[in-house]
Amino acid sequence: VFIAFEGGEGAGKTTQARLTAIWLRDHGYDVVTTNEPGATKVGMRLRAILLDKETTGLSSRAETLLYAADRADHVANVITPALERGAIVVTDRYVDSSLAYQGYGRKLAVDEIAEVNRWATGELAPHLTVLLDVPPETGFGRFASPADRMESEPREFHERVRRGFRKLAEADPDRYLVIDAGQSQEDITRQIRDRVREILPD
Ligand code: C5P
Ligand code: MG
Repeated sequence: VFIAFEGGEGAGKTTQARLTAIWLRDHGYDVVTTNEPGATKVGMRLRAILLDKETTGLSSRAETLLYAADRADHVANVITPALERGAIVVTDRYVDSSLAYQGYGRKLAVDEIAEVNRWATGELAPHLTVLLDVPPETGFGRFASPADRMESEPREFHERVRRGFRKLAEADPDRYLVIDAGQSQEDITRQIRDRVREILPD
């Protein structure tokens, strides 16, 4: 079983992914939690390049390809091996982040980014994608120190990213669980558990 958490900055992806994993482990499941970008050795180097994009003037297409390269390495070295041994994989971001940020956010063609990512991942798609939907200003308000985040983009960029995620979810309702991330952490956690239960193996 492969579960992805998606959403904008400060939506609570990392927290909810962790809580989901703890809950699954308590129920005896083998769980691997992971994240993008930067979950592998090469991924950590790519993450450093991606974080430095302002100073280097990294182009949008190169950025898209580096995210795809990070993801290809992530799938090959972390996700697929874990799934093959029967573990549940919970990832903080996956392909839809590229469609939302580089596609809707940077206005590159979403279908082309999808194609690049189908190739990069060998068409590995999550069984469930949890979208934690939050207005950008609420998300950013959750960081004590926003300086170490990639939030130098204008507010409209993050609005497009948010709308992009919501469109992706609307287009694929069977795979997506959309959650209003403005609710309490307990309410969000409960909604995620209710849905995850439906896709668990016995
Ligand atoms: O919170 P997280 O560690 O996932 O943040 C990674 C950063 O990378 C975020 O600031 C996000 O804006 C950015 N990102 C991006 N394009 C992606 C994935 C993440 O710009 N495809
Ligand atoms: Mg996070």
